[in-house]
Amino acid sequence: MAGHKPFRVIALLLLIALLYGCTTNRTAPAAEENKVTVYTSFYTMYDFTLKIAGDKANIINMVPPGMEPHDWEPSPKDIAGLSKADLFIHNGAGMEGWADKVLGSIKGSELIVVETSKNIHLEKAEHGEAERDEHAEDGDPDGHSHEGLEFDPHVWLDPMNARLQMEAIRDGLIQADPRNSTFYQERFKEYSDRLDALDKAYRSAVEGFRKKEIVVSHAAFGYLCHAYGLEQLAIEGVSSESEPTPAKMAEIIDFVREHEVKAIFFEELASPKVAEAIARETGVRTALLNPLEGLGEENLKAGKDYFSVMEENLEALKQALQ
Ligand code: ZN
Repeated sequence: MAGHKPFRVIALLLLIALLYGCTTNRTAPAAEENKVTVYTSFYTMYDFTLKIAGDKANIINMVPPGMEPHDWEPSPKDIAGLSKADLFIHNGAGMEGWADKVLGSIKGSELIVVETSKNIHLEKAEHGEAERDEHAEDGDPDGHSHEGLEFDPHVWLDPMNARLQMEAIRDGLIQADPRNSTFYQERFKEYSDRLDALDKAYRSAVEGFRKKEIVVSHAAFGYLCHAYGLEQLAIEGVSSESEPTPAKMAEIIDFVREHEVKAIFFEELASPKVAEAIARETGVRTALLNPLEGLGEENLKAGKDYFSVMEENLEALKQALQ
């Protein structure tokens, strides 16, 4: 009999946990219950959704602050929450490798799914050499290095793509919550104008650029480069995990010398180790260029968002290319 006691204790604890869980849900602020619940797949989707929805929705960002989203996978708790949400906003184009499987598994829920890249012309993914080599060795299709990525998912770094994404988010919000339709339309208009202004700032800045080549951590800036006539050489491929081979390192160093590149860009959520090694070898400085896949806690607290980071990115590009 004594042996059963621990089980009874565990059962009791589970029961308390369940009750506590229900209670906390039920005692959520009453006003919140009238709002639609929106899950977003990573920081920029969260930021865009917050801009359009304001305080009209409960918005839950799935990837925690400071975490790199390429390899992130939702927990069973995340999936359970998502299945009860009204709206799911994601980038698509392979950015959320987990999305198709998870969305397939929660069929039957009334979740409205918005793939914000669906009206954007996708560019082919650029696969870094390190990435290809790694796959030649391990042959693992589920590895973290995005072998399956046919297209470059980083569409949001071109402000005109960001506008198409916000437009898709607006339409999703209106579908889930038609009562606030006018609000969502007005907010979209406001941010659409700001995106136009951001695009103009980039266009006028690149007119003064003497160079167009940038060296970056991972190949996240394809759409930005395409929009403004720049050219990226990525230390890594589309994902940000793989280490470059010595041959790739030599290629980058040659590129830096040949094009007299003035800065090696690293990013907030990835290790600057390789960028620093190349900078040391070539006598060039390192600088931050943020692909906006996530923001760390400090930057969030400082109130940074898509626009402020894109403006910082523009300043960094001016420093390196003017
Ligand atoms: Zn990326």
